[in-house]
Amino acid sequence: MSDCIFCKIANKEIPSNVVYEDEKILVFHDLSPVAPQHVLIIPKVHIESMNELTEESASVVAHIFTKVKEVAKQLGIDGSGYRIVSNCGSEGGQTVGHLHFHLAGGRQMQWPPG
Ligand code: 5GP
Ligand code: ZN
Repeated sequence: MSDCIFCKIANKEIPSNVVYEDEKILVFHDLSPVAPQHVLIIPKVHIESMNELTEESASVVAHIFTKVKEVAKQLGIDGSGYRIVSNCGSEGGQTVGHLHFHLAGGRQMQWPPG
């Protein structure tokens, strides 16, 4: 998607602080971190939100979840713990229309989320 900010980050039109990258996904630091460690995990392919996920595109999500523990280890939060969040739609708090997973840690998380 030509006007999607995360597509632009994925294809390096917009710079980001990359933590992990492979052919399918990109992991980079959130511009406005809400925790000492806060990265975003995105598929390189444009998927608008969880609502648009299909059987075909779901494999990239499985791939993302197999990489989480490596990224958490790299960030030094695998042992202390972390939270993964994906906001969907307006009331879900999604502000960027490209499927992404927040991986946050480095402090005690609270429940319920706001
Ligand atoms: P959402 O609100 O959609 O769940 O998450 C979007 C996240 O993207 C927010 O946490 C926001 O700080 C982050 N974000 C928005 N624009 C940029 C950007 O240009 N670069 C980076 N690294 N993060 C961004
Ligand atoms: Zn996109």
